Amino acid sequence: MALELRPNCEYCDRDLPPADPDARICSYECTFCADCVETKLHNVCPNCGGGFVPRPIRPATEWRPGLSLAKRPASTKRVHLSYSPEDIAAQSERLKEIPPASR
Ligand SMILES: [Zn+2]
Ligand SMILES: [Zn+2]
Repeated sequence: MALELRPNCEYCDRDLPPADPDARICSYECTFCADCVETKLHNVCPNCGGGFVPRPIRPATEWRPGLSLAKRPASTKRVHLSYSPEDIAAQSERLKEIPPASR
């Protein structure tokens, strides 16, 4: 199983190509941009309530057989949040002061 490397921020819909250092993911791979994680979500995933880490960058070069961005391409299926901005803000407000390890 490899990360899907989803193509966009679920909140603002900006593109997050595989090598983008601004991509953030939660443990379920919910994917957002760094700006939304900091200013909108306050490190609270609106889907699962967990925190975020920078998404690792998959090598473009096939250093080992079968392992590269070309061999295991990024997902092209755009993902969008199913919650309202108000609901998301309430969730962030409720959880942002609790460290992810204690949620
Ligand atoms: Zn965003
Ligand atoms: Zn999540």
